[in-house]
Amino acid sequence: METPGSQTSLHRANLERVVRAVRMAGSLTQAEIARSTGLSAATVSNIVRELKDGGTVEVTPTSAGGRRARSVSLSGDAGIVIGVDFGHTHLRVAIGNLAHQVLAEESEPLDVDASSAEGFGRAEHLVNRLIETTGISPAKVIGVGLGVPGPIDVESGTLGSTSILPGWTGINPSQELAGRLGVPVYVDNDANLGALGELVWGSGRGVRDLAYIKVASGVGAGLVIDGHIYRGPGGTAGEIGHITLDEAGPVCRCGNRGCLETFTAARYVLPLLMPSHGPDLTMERVVQLAREGDPGCRRVIGDVGRHIGSGVANLCNLLNPSRVVLGGSLAEAGELVLGPIRDSVSRYAIPSAARQLSVLPGALGGRAEVLGALALVLSEMGDSTLLESTLPAATPAFT
Ligand SMILES: [Zn+2]
Repeated sequence: METPGSQTSLHRANLERVVRAVRMAGSLTQAEIARSTGLSAATVSNIVRELKDGGTVEVTPTSAGGRRARSVSLSGDAGIVIGVDFGHTHLRVAIGNLAHQVLAEESEPLDVDASSAEGFGRAEHLVNRLIETTGISPAKVIGVGLGVPGPIDVESGTLGSTSILPGWTGINPSQELAGRLGVPVYVDNDANLGALGELVWGSGRGVRDLAYIKVASGVGAGLVIDGHIYRGPGGTAGEIGHITLDEAGPVCRCGNRGCLETFTAARYVLPLLMPSHGPDLTMERVVQLAREGDPGCRRVIGDVGRHIGSGVANLCNLLNPSRVVLGGSLAEAGELVLGPIRDSVSRYAIPSAARQLSVLPGALGGRAEVLGALALVLSEMGDSTLLESTLPAATPAFT
């Protein structure tokens, strides 16, 4: 029996702190573990030895600042995590291990009108096929992260009404997929997963406060505050698409007028170019034409950037993130959109909030959400499974 405050429970808490630090970072030197956990170098060294003997972590020689060091990561054999991302037009699956290695990844087109049964059936099939081709044991799978392009009701876990997947309203995606795969499924929306993906694998590495902005059929932000996704009690934090920019502007789908979304989302932006560029435009095509020098497309992309910058300026004043990462296909416009975002931020944010901010394009492109789904499992899974091999006799800690 462990009593809170006893040597055993303190020791276990220290083991968990080290495992948690390594779990989210991928790999850390022992000095970095000491810094991020607040434990002494000697304690970290003892705990790492114990975890290594139990097979929970792997230790490899590395160098830090020209000095020899030991890099600690979770053992690749300790468990498998799976990411599933339902996008507007695609289904993407990735398989990774706890050492942050992506072992397999594949995507296929998904019709937006597909029923939820068809969508989950396809996901189940693709997951099983990738498990087979990588030759991993299904028993090693710890959990699945699932991304959906719409709001999740925090209380019921069901998908809210969304224009993106019209036939999926009222479905509980986590239950649906867990029933098919027989492992725990953690679900989140695409903006939050994009933020997690960039935080762990992409342009957000090394920072603890980040906003990931995704412009697609709507505009959303995934907010990372002190290393954790901030969702708010109703799960709707980050809805920057509905910041009012112009009270006399176009009516938005939310019922208000002149929301940020009405100046930046594809359905409002593409009609501006259709008279001059034809009816078959997509945002991807506009970005491509802008990069090739088309003046109309450059103008529109620049305006979109300016408006996003106004939203980002508000975000900076409220949350003071150190990094803003632009995701989605718009990020491929590079400086054509990032320059105007930075201009607006320096114009509208208070200088002290914008001083330490860097605005970067996402590094992961269309992979951000599925890698974020892997990161979601890493972030939500408990440490008990991982510590079983190190502490065979441990009973669950009192929490
Ligand atoms: Zn709105």
